Amino acid sequence: MKKNLARTYCEDVLFADANVGPNEADSVLFGVRYGGTVSFRKGTETGPCAIREESWNFETFHWEHGTDLEKSKLFDAGDIGPFKTPDEMVTSVATRARELAHGNFLVMLGGEHSVSAPVVEATKAKCVIVVDAHLDFRDSYHDSKNNHACATRRFAELVGAENVFPIGIRSICAEELEDAKRLGLKYATSKDVRERGIDRVIDEALASVKGRPLYLSIDIDGLDPAYAPGTGTPEPFGITSWDAKRIVERLAPELIGMDVVEVSPPCDNGNTASLAARLVREAMAVRMKSPTRE
Ligand code: MN
Ligand code: MN
Repeated sequence: MKKNLARTYCEDVLFADANVGPNEADSVLFGVRYGGTVSFRKGTETGPCAIREESWNFETFHWEHGTDLEKSKLFDAGDIGPFKTPDEMVTSVATRARELAHGNFLVMLGGEHSVSAPVVEATKAKCVIVVDAHLDFRDSYHDSKNNHACATRRFAELVGAENVFPIGIRSICAEELEDAKRLGLKYATSKDVRERGIDRVIDEALASVKGRPLYLSIDIDGLDPAYAPGTGTPEPFGITSWDAKRIVERLAPELIGMDVVEVSPPCDNGNTASLAARLVREAMAVRMKSPTRE
């Protein structure tokens, strides 16, 4: 049930229904307080705290899936960060994610998008489906390969470009387009989602990426700023919150890990962090009823 929490980014707020310790857990959540390479509006460092606070807004019982998150075996391992450099961030996140993975369903709350690649690596995922407005396919940006504009490129290095599929794209530079063609990166634009419908696009994504298990990386700016205003690089004409819910709902049974990144609380009215929390809870609720769950 709802708890009345003050909107301060305090240290001791766990994600809602994270009721078990590390030994009983089958799902582990952690946050990364990092916004070192953000290119426009700042503020992703406090993303994990805001998402945790908003997570308490929801009923533990999921009306649609018939599961009760109070009975989930979720451990909240807290946050890491901040870090002085992108390289330090990658090393620290990789170490922490490896400690926490161990066959658990791993959930990471960002933080900016550069935080995701070391988490993907730690889960040993074989393919990555991405939600993003931006292709994030530059090999390097502002002299760093670990810039948030390079997130998808790093995923492609880990699992192969053919095993990465971004959805919701509507911002691509010429160099990225050329590299995507050359390296065989397929993706669906937000216009594709609007024209073909989200279920068909999910079918295409699932058919395109051959490896399993799956990792889902949600850059919250993939959603239209109308639904997710609290982000550093908002891009109009995005997918809807219903589209994002459908992606999570359909992929959840196959996931080994997921993240929600680029939530920027200083740019938010609370609804973006709320949506991020709700998407994580959607995955948890579906996985509790899934027969394929380990
Ligand atoms: Mn991104
Ligand atoms: Mn983005």
